[in-house]
Amino acid sequence: MKKRSRLRLAVVLAVGAVFACLGIWAEYTNWQRLLQSANTRQMETARAMALHTDDILALAQQPLNNLSAHARDALGDKAKMQHLLEEMLRVVKTSPLLRSLAYADAQGRLIGSTFAANSAGMDLSDREYFLFHKSNASTQPRFGLPSQSQTNGRWFLPISQRIDNPDGSLAGIMIATIDMDHFSRFIETFEVNEQNAFALLRKDGAILLRLPIDLKAMGANVADSTLYRDQIMKKLRGNYEYVSRFDGTKRISGFYRSTDTGVTAIATQTKASIFDDWLKQSKYPWLSIILAYLIGTAMAIRWIRQIELREIGDQKVAAREAEFRLIANASPDVIEKISLAGVRQYVSPAAARIFERDTESVIGTSVLDDRDDQTKSAWQDALAKVQSGSSTECILYRHQRMDGTMIWLESVISCFRSDDNNEPDGIVVITRDVTRQQMMKQELNALATTDELTRLFNKRYFNTQLSSTLAAARANQQSVSLILLDLDRFKAYNDTYGHLAGDCALRDVAAVIPPELIGTGGLAARYGGEELVVLLPNTDAEETMRIAENIRKAIAALKIEHAGNLPWGHVTVSSGYATALPSQAFSENDLITQADRALYAAKAAGRNRSQDDEENNKPEHLRSSM
Ligand code: GH3
Ligand code: MG
Ligand code: MG
Repeated sequence: MKKRSRLRLAVVLAVGAVFACLGIWAEYTNWQRLLQSANTRQMETARAMALHTDDILALAQQPLNNLSAHARDALGDKAKMQHLLEEMLRVVKTSPLLRSLAYADAQGRLIGSTFAANSAGMDLSDREYFLFHKSNASTQPRFGLPSQSQTNGRWFLPISQRIDNPDGSLAGIMIATIDMDHFSRFIETFEVNEQNAFALLRKDGAILLRLPIDLKAMGANVADSTLYRDQIMKKLRGNYEYVSRFDGTKRISGFYRSTDTGVTAIATQTKASIFDDWLKQSKYPWLSIILAYLIGTAMAIRWIRQIELREIGDQKVAAREAEFRLIANASPDVIEKISLAGVRQYVSPAAARIFERDTESVIGTSVLDDRDDQTKSAWQDALAKVQSGSSTECILYRHQRMDGTMIWLESVISCFRSDDNNEPDGIVVITRDVTRQQMMKQELNALATTDELTRLFNKRYFNTQLSSTLAAARANQQSVSLILLDLDRFKAYNDTYGHLAGDCALRDVAAVIPPELIGTGGLAARYGGEELVVLLPNTDAEETMRIAENIRKAIAALKIEHAGNLPWGHVTVSSGYATALPSQAFSENDLITQADRALYAAKAAGRNRSQDDEENNKPEHLRSSM
């Protein structure tokens, strides 16, 4: 991944992280709020429980105080004691709160009780409350430890009060029991379960009640716990988080200590249940935040990837353009991009050399501008062909340079098509200067058609021209003439002056006949050895005779010494000529044969003369067969 993309991804992830942090912070705040409100609730509950416990004790205290006064009064008086027992029965019957009442003497022997007629004499001296009162001078009512009824299994709580002799020594104790329901019914107005537990603690750390009921906890002393030692003993109220010694759960608690009774009420809730509440509230917001985060991140990564791909694409295009420009700049050929109508849209720098114009001034001009008619129509043809399916077209044309010289240009034209519908989209033209090649081609052509010694056309070329000239003459109803020339006694010339001198003489003779003949479009060629031929299109017999004579005279006028050619003593030529009239059905052979025959006749007649074919001029019936 590129540095820029990594940066983009980092920004996206950072923004995501900021949102995630905000989400976490919001949820953490929510959690704190839940914890806070749970703490407040627990403390309020504890306070209500403590006040309720105070109320109950206050309710129990009144009859207990009355009966204690009664008991003091009855000390040592049997009748009064009997009356006290009756009073106790009456109080229990009328009190909605008290479950039973009992009275024990200073030794802990039960004097009388409301729960069993025959209970008198029962030993209570080992009871916790008795031991307390025995060693403690306080005459305030006091909660004892919780007990469970053996008959119905219900829990009850003793409240006892010391009764003093007039000298302050222990006279006895009055014991009332209260059904635990009086506490639990109130506590159960709150939700009681394993998560939400409640307890009442006596001043000394003994557990008076634990709801839900826990046998291990009922009556146990927790004075050594940090909750009791560091919190309850030091403050009247507060919140405390701890691990329960009874069920091992982590709990938060609120506690409230009554200043009247010294009883501390504790309301607790497991932390797990608060967490569950929080989870219930936060689950869907959290899921949606996580989902939004994941979707957002995925979309961002996709977006970054797209940007990256686009950048790579742009770089590739730029690199390709640079490569193309390099090639176009380096190319000696002109590379052009033109519209379908032929208007130049791009022109490579080679235009400066070939078109002698800078590229900017060429752009916008048409490839058809400043062309002669032939070139223009060649261009139009080629443009039409590439657009209608031809892969490439090549045209060759002449182009006039600024200095007036003509050069040859070759343009290769091809069409490029749209990727979508394969319709022609534009045209590429590559143009090169082929003047040198053209020149070489012309030279080669000339070599192929020219006789080396005489610089006249050669026989092969003559033959092709003869047949095409005859065909044209037939079509145009014109006559064609032919002159065959043969140097006189040339064998003797060679013998006398040597073969090289013979070649020179032959060349000089040939130079007398201009190769492009005599205003008539004819030609002169070396027919073989020291024989020459002149082809004269559209020339009648009379004109032919005149031309043949002119050539013969011109050769003689050269006065090339030829001692063996008497009586003249210089090089002469004999010629035979023939004319094919439009009315006659001449073949090439016919014309050559006639001229040859005329030449033979000229030789026979003494040489250095021009002659037509007498045979041909004879009437048909007198002619010898050819
Ligand atoms: P005539 O035509 O007058 O009857 O006599 P001639 O001696 O010219 O006889 P002919 O035409 O039959 O002989 C042609 C001679 O021309 C033969 C050869 O020595 C000479 N010749 C042919 N071609 C060349 C050539 O290229 N160079 C030279 N130096 N001589 C040639
Ligand atoms: Mg000859
Ligand atoms: Mg000859």
